[in-house]
Amino acid sequence: NARIVLASRPEGRPTPAHFRFEEVEVPAPADGQVLLRIRYLSLDPYMRGRMSAAQSYAAPVEINGVMEGGTVAEVLESRHAGFSVGDIVLSHSGWQSFALSDGSGLVKLDNWPTEISTALGVLGMPGFTAYAGLLTIGQPKEGETVVVAAASGAVGSAVGQIARLKGARAVGIAGGPEKCAIVRDEFGFDAVVDHRSPSFANDLAAVCPNGIDVYFENVGGKVWDGVVPLLNSFARIPVCGLISQYNSTGDFEGPDRWPLIARDILRKSLTIRGFIQREFVAQKPQFLAEMSQWIASGAVRYREDVVEGLRNAPDAFIGLLDGKNVGKLVIKVS
Ligand code: NDP
Repeated sequence: NARIVLASRPEGRPTPAHFRFEEVEVPAPADGQVLLRIRYLSLDPYMRGRMSAAQSYAAPVEINGVMEGGTVAEVLESRHAGFSVGDIVLSHSGWQSFALSDGSGLVKLDNWPTEISTALGVLGMPGFTAYAGLLTIGQPKEGETVVVAAASGAVGSAVGQIARLKGARAVGIAGGPEKCAIVRDEFGFDAVVDHRSPSFANDLAAVCPNGIDVYFENVGGKVWDGVVPLLNSFARIPVCGLISQYNSTGDFEGPDRWPLIARDILRKSLTIRGFIQREFVAQKPQFLAEMSQWIASGAVRYREDVVEGLRNAPDAFIGLLDGKNVGKLVIKVS
């Protein structure tokens, strides 16, 4: 049994030294437990927060504790009446190859409509984040302009495609020509802008001639600075993530933006609302029904960046924070 634990807490950008790879015995299930063999591990930006002791919406991983994470697993042994050997389940088993569970929190993936890894991506937490955040807070309407950054990623790619299904114009922001081409050609966004270009703010203005009605915030930083002047009156801004700040040590670049933003909130009657996807858990069944249909019909497409081997999880995760992943990042554990 292999596992990866948090060796120390990073200040700024994590390095491989903040993680430790360990070999331990495969545990034996007690009465009422199952032994899970992890097939896929999801790597997600929130894990940077769990490496830090700073106050957040969830408790941090302990030093020497197994890194937290969503997983798709197979029941290898069962001493639990509700599960049989061979069942495929969604679990939150973390960065390891085997885990015990008493069944709480396990979700069976019987008759899953597509590859089981999608339970961690487009049909899982990131897809649900896009769906609930966009439709509940963003509320895109026919003909409106919806802008989303990290647009080739798990959340952003779904945001743009759902916006288009609601009749809105989807504008993506992505890093570099390869990702921009994917956002346009594979995910069918109406326009895409490269945030690494020196002319980013002007490029964004050029593809938003009618301003921005919904800005789905995934990154913060200079992307936010480019978006703010283009916001229309009554624009809605679901604040989903701020990945450009996750490795920050506390000093944010540039002048204090608050007075200008406060002025715009008032003058343009903006709605800015942060959210954590689990607030909307009641919408999960509807999400699964609708998203499965959209995927089956080809109305929503997705892309996975599958990295082989648990040992490679630290490097892959560090790369995620640098934008190296292309699509939903998952580790194929076994
Ligand atoms: P992605 O698969 O999109 O990976 C992250 C992407 O962020 C990178 O590929 C990179 O894309 C982009 N990025 C990284 N650094 C920067 C930067 N400095 N400036 C601009 N872009 C950057 O991740 P997810 O789709 O899983 O997550 C997207 C966002 O959603 C994150 O902020 C995450 O924290 C948030 N989230 C929030 C949830 C909630 O409940 N509120 C739940 C799930 C996710 P590129 O190269 O194109 O710039």
